[in-house]
Formats: sequence, C-alpha cells, structure tokens
Amino acid sequence: MAEDQKKPISAAEARQVAEEARESEWKSPSFLKELFLGNFRLDLIHPFPAAPPERPEFRAFYEKMKDFLVKEVDSDAIDREGKIPPRIVKRLAEMGAFGMKVPKEYGGLGLTQREYGEIMKLLSSQDGNLVVLLSAHQSIGVPQPLKLFGTPEQKKKYFPRIAAGAISAFALTEPHVGSDPANLSTSATRTPEGDYLLNGEKLWCTNGTVADLFVVMAKHPDTKKISAFIVEKDWPGVEVVIRCHFMGLKAIENGVIRFKNVRVPKENLLLAEGRGLKLALVTLNTGRLTLPASSAAFGKRCLEICRIWSNERIQWGQPIGRHDAIAQLIAEMAATTFALDAVTDLASSMADMHDRDIRLEAAVAKMWNSEEGWRLIDRTVQIRGGRGYETADSLRARGEPGIPVERMMRDFRINLIFEGSSEIMRLFIAREALDRHLAVAGDLFNPKVSRSDKIRKLLPKFVGFYAKWYPTRWVGWSHSPRYAEFGPLAGHIRYAERASRHLARAIFHMMARYGPKLEKKQALLFRAVDIGADLFAMSAALSRAQAMRAAHGPHAADAVELADVFSRMMRRRIAQHFRGIRSNDDVRKYRTARRVLEGSHLWLEDGLTPTSELEKLAVSAYAQKEEKELATI
Ligand SMILES: Cc1cc2nc3c(=O)[nH]c(=O)nc-3n(C[C@H](O)[C@H](O)[C@H](O)COP(=O)(O)OP(=O)(O)OC[C@H]3O[C@@H](n4cnc5c(N)ncnc54)[C@H](O)[C@@H]3O)c2cc1C
Repeated sequence: MAEDQKKPISAAEARQVAEEARESEWKSPSFLKELFLGNFRLDLIHPFPAAPPERPEFRAFYEKMKDFLVKEVDSDAIDREGKIPPRIVKRLAEMGAFGMKVPKEYGGLGLTQREYGEIMKLLSSQDGNLVVLLSAHQSIGVPQPLKLFGTPEQKKKYFPRIAAGAISAFALTEPHVGSDPANLSTSATRTPEGDYLLNGEKLWCTNGTVADLFVVMAKHPDTKKISAFIVEKDWPGVEVVIRCHFMGLKAIENGVIRFKNVRVPKENLLLAEGRGLKLALVTLNTGRLTLPASSAAFGKRCLEICRIWSNERIQWGQPIGRHDAIAQLIAEMAATTFALDAVTDLASSMADMHDRDIRLEAAVAKMWNSEEGWRLIDRTVQIRGGRGYETADSLRARGEPGIPVERMMRDFRINLIFEGSSEIMRLFIAREALDRHLAVAGDLFNPKVSRSDKIRKLLPKFVGFYAKWYPTRWVGWSHSPRYAEFGPLAGHIRYAERASRHLARAIFHMMARYGPKLEKKQALLFRAVDIGADLFAMSAALSRAQAMRAAHGPHAADAVELADVFSRMMRRRIAQHFRGIRSNDDVRKYRTARRVLEGSHLWLEDGLTPTSELEKLAVSAYAQKEEKELATI
C-alpha cells in the first residue's frame, strides 16, 4: 500500500469525491426532487402503479420458494448453528434463486424489480440470513452492475455462471473506509499490458467467505480515482482472511478478504476507469430497494405476532390488546405496515417503469422503511413482554410456541447501518434535495468566485429563478376542494401539497440564513429530510388507498381507515419537525457534545469496572487523532 494512501483524507477531499460520484443531471422526473422544491407532482405517483399482470412463471417460482421455506428451512437452526446448510444453498441454486435478476437470455429468471421485491418479502418474513445471502449477491454483488453496465462479453461470460448458482459479493468497505469511500486504500495499478494489479484488504464483505465472484472497488494510485472490477475467487492472490460474526444474522458468510498482487484482466473493469463510485451509486439506486421490501415483510410479521398475542394474553382482567396503551401501538403498527408496503411497491414499480429518476425515492425508501421497521420490531418485543426477549429455542423448550421475536430484532438492526447508514442516507437526500438551489445560488456563496462575477453573472440567474419561484411557494390550491376523487382522504392530500410548499420555503429560508454553513447544520437539514420522507410515505399510502377505492376492491374501506390513521400520525410528526426547524437546541447540544468528547464530563463515567478493550480503543483513537494532526501540519 502506498504510504500517501494511508493519510487521512480531509473533509473537503471526502466531499469532492462524493460530488464527483454523484449523477449530476436529472434526465427524468422525480416525485421527491419536485416535492423538496415545493412542487407536489401527484401525477408521478397517482394512480398508484398497478401490480403488473401476474406472469405464470413468476407465480410458479413464488409458490416453489414458499413451499421450500416452509418445508425445508429451519431458520432457528440456521441462527443457532451460524451456518446455512450447503443443501439449502444447493436447493436455492437449483431453483434459480441466484439468477433472479439475471436476464432470461442468459439462463436467469429475469424477474422485474417488483417481482424480485415480492420474493424478498417472502424470504424476509422467515429468514434474515437467506435474505442477505441472496440480496448481497443480487442487489449489490455482480448481477446488478453487470446488468446495468456490463459489456456484452462480460455478460456472456458471467451471467450464465451466476444463473447456475455462482455466488457473488460486493467489496468496498475497509478498516478506514466505512461511510467515506474517499479514504479507500485498496489499489489497482496498471500493468504494462493494460491489466491491473490489485492489492489491499476488504472488511465485512457479505458472502465473501463463500463467493465465487466479487465486485471490488479499488483506487488508482496515480489518478486517485476509484474503479470497480469483477474478480474471481480462484485467481492467485485472493484470500479469505477471517470470517466475521455479528449481533444477528448469525449465518451471514461475511469476512475480511485480502487481495495480494491479484492480476485482473482489463476486460474485467466495469463501466470505465475511475467511474467505480458512480457505478456503485447507480447500482444502489435499485440495489437499495431490497431493504424496504424486507422491512415491509418484517412489519407484516410483527403485526401478525402482536395481533395474535394481544388477543390471547390476558392481564388485569382483559386481553392486553384492549388496554389503551397496547391498542395505540397496534393501530400505529397496522397503519405503518400499510405505508411500508406502499412505499416499497411504489419505489419498486418506479424502478420498473424506467422513465423516472428514483435516486431520491430509493434512498428515502431504504432509510424510512428500515427505521420504521426497527420501531415495529421494538414494539413487538414490548408487546410480547418477557417472551419477546426469550429465544425461540427456550420458548419451545418450556412448551410454548417458538416465536422468534428475539432473533428478528437481532437480525433487523443492521438494516439501519449497511447499504448506506441512516445518517449517510440523510446527507445524500439533503444534497439531492438542495440540488436545484445549489445550481442557481450555490456559487453566490462560493468564496472562490469573485465579487464582480457574482454581481454580473450570478445575481441575474438568482433573481430570475427566485423572483418567480419564491412567491409561488406561498400560494396554492390546497384549501380549495381539490383532489375530490380521494374522497375521505382528500384533506390529507391537500395537506401534503401545502406541506411540500411549506418545506420548500423552510429549506430556502435555511439557505438564506446559513449560506454554505448549512451543510454543517445536519440536525436542521435532517429535519427537512424527515419531513420530505414522511410526506413521501404519506403520499404513497394515500395513493395506494385511493387505487383500492377506485378498484372497488374488497379491502377499500380498510385501506382508507389505515391510510387515514397513518396520515394523521405523519401530520403530527411533520408538525413537530417544522417546530424543530423554527426553534431548537441544536447549537447548545453540539457544544455539550464537544465538551463530552473533550473529556469535560469524565466524572459522569465514574464507578465503572475498567475494561482493557476500551482502553485499547481509546489509545488507537488518540493515535489516529495524532496522525490526522500531523497530516494537517
Ligand atoms: C453485517 C455487515 C455486512 C456488511 N456487508 C458489506 C458488504 O457486503 N460490502 C461492503 O463493502 N461493506 C459491507 N458492510 C459495511 C457497511 O456498509 C458499513 O458498516 C457501513 O457503510 C458503515 O460504515 P462503518 O461501519 O465503518 O461506520 P462509519 O462510517 O465509521 O460511521 C460510524 C457512524 O458515524 C456516522 N457517520 C459517518 N459519517 C458521517 C457524516 N459525515 N455525518 C454524520 N454521520 C456520519 C455513521 O452513520 C455511523 O452512525 C457490512 C457491514 C456489516 C456490519
């Protein structure tokens, strides 16, 4: 590893790398981009995309998978033993599960995003370990980038292998590279023949310990740009160093993978040299949609468990579901589950339409669904009481049904961290939400642009845009009897339209007040993101309920009830976020955090047993700090 690559990257460099990797253009419309600008483009999500006519091959595969899960998969045993039995992996391969996203002409199943989402929901309702095996392979491993960016030769070479069951993995993370790829140190050096020599070590590579193929992200030492390569396990120099173990997902085949002078033929470069991060970002636009689907299925399972238990369990003379505190939770869980499903199906359908830009919708779906899913599992543990904390094996050993709430909670938690942590998703969404404003007004705050250029070139552009845009964010049709087709839900749609204009104004006011400093005001920006996300979930739920009304389906009235309760919940939460934008304790809390970090409140930590492991961590943190300080001298 070149010495200079070990130096910590500055915040500005990290930002520049992220900026370069962004898709800078918006070629297709986006509901959320417009919403953040105060344009409530209901036409982009309504009518709710109907499920496409069911293909018989898909139904057959779905039923086969369901039968397999019920009859052949013991998820508690997989969790207990920390291993997916080879016969299960073999059966999945025989069914074609590793080729769900591989086009039919290469021997795959060629499922649409929505069909793939349905299979992932089914799997998630039972077994988190199988979900990560298949989704790390399919959503971020080789199939998705190959489909989007592979050359015909690459597709011909790898798709048939994948369809036949070759497992793949995605290797980006390194010990110093989590959320911040600018620090990447795995290197790809060009050989005189134009091939590449790969050197470095990847951390937490899911499927890495069993994968046949990897997508590896590496940096070119000369240009410092990042590229993506398809690497085969059997090539000399590829080594599985260690398998990692986690709080949940006990059977995840995740490990540290070392690449030592691995010769990668130039034909295995994906997309183009230096475009690896862009490839990863675009891949994740659809790749990220597995987690929302998974969260929706978790929500349904939680609801089922709580419904049955709250009817059965009698305390203080009546079923616990009749006690108001638990009843409130149950209503919220049902309403949220309806929204989780609507968000998933809307985002997946948009991906299948190919005429929308879904980068914001996919990011919001990932963030929102995983966080709401976590809330649901937390409530499920609470409603199950002590049994929620007890393992399924222990419950069974005592003669009670082995409901695996404890395992579900452990398995679910990682969803808020990988494939873009909640914080990184919010940063990404905030950047995209501000894009139009930055394009129009960004350079006005740029110290590198001269004062005369600002007045001569930028001011007219600024005035030209905002003179029309800003006043129109104050006026709308939201109080008039519009959206009447939504019947009892019309008031909520009118609210969403009004709130989107309110949000756009609030974002503009923040920009005007803080200028470039806004970037650092994460708590403030994140409230704006959360309002946008809640409005998206609310709009998705309302649009779906309306579609069910319009179709006069048997559950239309039920859907209206749930969408109504859900919208009421969101409206209260959104109002709270708006209040937080107007008045908050962010600066005071930041100051206190600084003092905590500097050790001013060490007295609060008195009375603990000393732990040598934490001492080691503190030492290495100080070593890194020193290294950083030296690097900035
Ligand atoms: C079970 C598991 C499976 C995984 N599978 C894969 C895989 O297949 N391939 C792969 O490449 N990686 C994988 N990862 C890595 C995963 O993607 C990272 O854990 C994730 O990106 C977060 O990085 P980190 O853990 O280093 O956290 P850090 O980046 O160190 O972040 C720590 C905390 O700080 C927050 N934070 C970081 N930067 C900012 C910021 N600028 N502003 C505000 N908050 C910030 C984060 O959100 C987080 O809360 C896996 C990890 C696990 C645990």
